[in-house]
This record gives sequence, C-alpha cells and structure tokens, in this order.
Amino acid sequence: MSTLCMTADIAVIGGGAYGLSAALWLRRLRPDLSVLLLDRSDFAGNETGRCGAGFRAQWGAAGNIRLCQESLPSYENFAEEFGYPEGIEFKQDGYLILAHGEEQLDQLRRNIALQARFGVDSALLTAEEVARLAPGLNPAGVVGGSFCARDGSLSPFRVLDGFHRAALRSGVVIRHGVTIESIEPRNGAFRLRAGGESIEAGRVVVATDTRIPQLLGPLGIDIPVQPYPNQAFVTEPLPPRLGPCVVSFAHEMFLNQTVRGSVVVVASDRRRALGADARPTADLFPRAAAHAIDLLPALGTARLLRSWAGLYSITPDMLAVLGETALPGLFVALSGAKGFMTAPAAGRLLAHLVDGQAVPDWFARLSPARFASGEELEKEPAIV
Ligand SMILES: Cc1cc2nc3c(=O)[nH]c(=O)nc-3n(C[C@H](O)[C@H](O)[C@H](O)COP(=O)(O)OP(=O)(O)OC[C@H]3O[C@@H](n4cnc5c(N)ncnc54)[C@H](O)[C@@H]3O)c2cc1C
Repeated sequence: MSTLCMTADIAVIGGGAYGLSAALWLRRLRPDLSVLLLDRSDFAGNETGRCGAGFRAQWGAAGNIRLCQESLPSYENFAEEFGYPEGIEFKQDGYLILAHGEEQLDQLRRNIALQARFGVDSALLTAEEVARLAPGLNPAGVVGGSFCARDGSLSPFRVLDGFHRAALRSGVVIRHGVTIESIEPRNGAFRLRAGGESIEAGRVVVATDTRIPQLLGPLGIDIPVQPYPNQAFVTEPLPPRLGPCVVSFAHEMFLNQTVRGSVVVVASDRRRALGADARPTADLFPRAAAHAIDLLPALGTARLLRSWAGLYSITPDMLAVLGETALPGLFVALSGAKGFMTAPAAGRLLAHLVDGQAVPDWFARLSPARFASGEELEKEPAIV
C-alpha cells in the first residue's frame, strides 16, 4: 500500500477557534512559511460550534482577564482585522454576574479590583442596581453583582467562518476529515500519522482541546486536562427580556438572549462525573429548567427548540495552556474552557512564540511548564 506524504513548515492540529486563530496568525507573521491545518471533523464540528457564545473579561485570575482584554479589540474590530464585513453579531449589552450571599459578593469585589489593574471597566452593583439593569430576573436572594458593559455575546459560527476565510486568504492550507493518530519526533522535526498518510512538519501546534492528552501522552508529555460535560438549551425567540448576559453561581448557569430573541441557557452538571461523554442527558433537564425558571421566570412558558452538550477542558487552575512543550518545536494550545472568547489573543501570541518572537511575561506564564515548576498556581474562582 502506498503512503501519501505531505510536508509543511508548521502543522496545526485542530481547526476550532484556537487552531484557526493560531494558523492564520502564523501565516500573517511568516508568509514565507507553509502552514497546514488538519482537522478530523467538518467546519464547526467542535466545541467552538457548541459553545454558549459568551465573552467576558470579568474573571478572577490575571491570565484569564488579560487573554480576554487582549482579545476584545479583535472582536470589536473583527470586520477590519479579519476582512469580514458580514459581521459577527457582537451584542455588547454587558455581562451581569450575580452574587447570592456575602461570600460571593466579596469574591466579585476582589475580582473587580484585579480587573481594574488590567483596564477592565467593571463595577460592583447593589441589589437595587441589579434589579434596575435586569428587571426580568428573580431578585430573591440577590445581594449584588458585578457588571461590565463591554462584555457580551457573539456568534461562534460567524467567528469560525471569519477565521476560516482569513486563514485561507493568508495562505493557510486547510484539510478537514484528517484524524491525526500519532506524532513522532524525527530528526528535529515531526511526522504525523493519519491513516495511510504521513505529514512531515518542522513545528507542530496541537489545538485539539480536551483531546490533547491522546496525542501528547504517548510522547511522555503530561498536559493536565479533564473533559467536563456541559449542556446548553435554546428556547424559541421571545420578546426582549434580558439585556446583559447573566451568570449565576447559585444556579450553576449562564443565560443569554441572542440578537434573534432565543434564550440560550448553559448549565453545568456538577453531579456528572468528569469524562469524555458529551451526549446530552435527560436527567439534567428538569433540574436545569427549574433553575432557569427560578432565575428568569418568563422562561416558565417558553418552548424549547433544541439542546446539545459539549466538553469543557478543565485544567488544574482553569487557565489556558499555551506554549512550547518539553519537546522543542512541539506546541500546545489548550483553551481551559474559554477558548471562544480568548481565541484572538491566544492564537496571535502563540504564533509569536512559535516563530521565536518575544511574548509578554503574563502570556509566557501560561506555558505547560507551570505545572511542573512547583510554584503555586493562580486559580480562577469565577467559573460557573
Ligand atoms: C456548552 C458549552 C458552552 C460554552 N460556552 C462558552 C462561552 O460562552 N464562551 C467561551 O469562550 N467558551 C465557551 N465554552 C468553551 C469553548 O467552547 C471551548 O473552550 C473552545 O471552543 C475550545 O476551542 P478549541 O479550538 O480549543 O477546540 P475545538 O473548537 O473543539 O477545536 C478542536 C478541534 O480539534 C479537532 N480534533 C480533535 N482531535 C483531532 C485529531 N486527532 N486529529 C485532527 N483533528 C482533531 C476537532 O475536530 C476540533 O475541530 C463552552 C463550552 C461548552 C461545551
């Protein structure tokens, strides 16, 4: 049997938001190098296509805040930066994070202080201000909240389409339907195996999110990530009821009314074990529906259009993992469950790193080496 062989200066494995962003920035930085992006699925057949579409800089760990702050201008100016006049439906009505109880309010206060250091214009709200901002929400138990007007939601499909087209225009070669089975180091470069094919690449970026360990584990590279199933529900279009996106830790839930009127509910299933099973489960629905109606009572009469599940990539500190592995030339781009909102900056700065250029210290700290350094990790407290 003959073996097909392709070569590239840089191969990117995974064509979700992270892989596409990294690939297009690599070609923008180095038009003299060939960049080949390989993905086992079709367009948007990935976690990015299943995400809740939210963007917020209101995090409690510096690495998350900075990745979002660096990504925000790219999303605000997407048409110009990526040549995509179609628009990405960025609804910048802000993000409201509710506090049910003093402990949560204290955490939000600490998060806001940290966010202010990096230029995020967020503010602590009283319970009365929360009620004025989102009158449709159930005020019971709400003691305050945090709000940032530049946060919001945007279309994952438009963003993927924009990245995809920009990558093609910049000269990235994209191949769908190619499952990489292994990565073999070879004389300072790499051979990727995919069925009967082999691909030779000088440098490799692995951007397969929760599936990164399958490719890097056999090389002795341990990237600590656990898949965690999350489920989304979408209602029929409703009259405008909810301006900002809403996060409630007490309800374990994120709510967003899209520009078309549908309300998207993302519910985490803490009772479900960590694992790679991303099928929706019927047992979450009654609990999630009860929580959603408690949070936004107008949902009590709304009809459900559809539901899907996907996997969060849970890292020990809930931050992305971006950088070179112990094998020179082999890089990792792992989202840490916020890969949609952080993709513009993650891809751009990782491309600089792959090209041997300087990156800011805060970005360098997202390297996989941090897990073996013995240093205390900065943990993200603001995860739903
Ligand atoms: C229900 C839900 C709601 C979410 N809400 C948000 C949100 O509001 N905002 C936000 O920022 N994030 C959200 N997330 C997280 C976000 O979806 C992910 O962090 C992000 O999409 C990851 O992007 P990625 O490019 O790393 O991975 P993906 O988009 O999954 O892309 C990885 C690609 O790798 C390919 N691949 C895998 N293995 C191989 C292989 N062996 N060979 C070739 N190709 C391979 C896959 O086909 C896939 O296309 C949510 C996630 C879920 C599940």
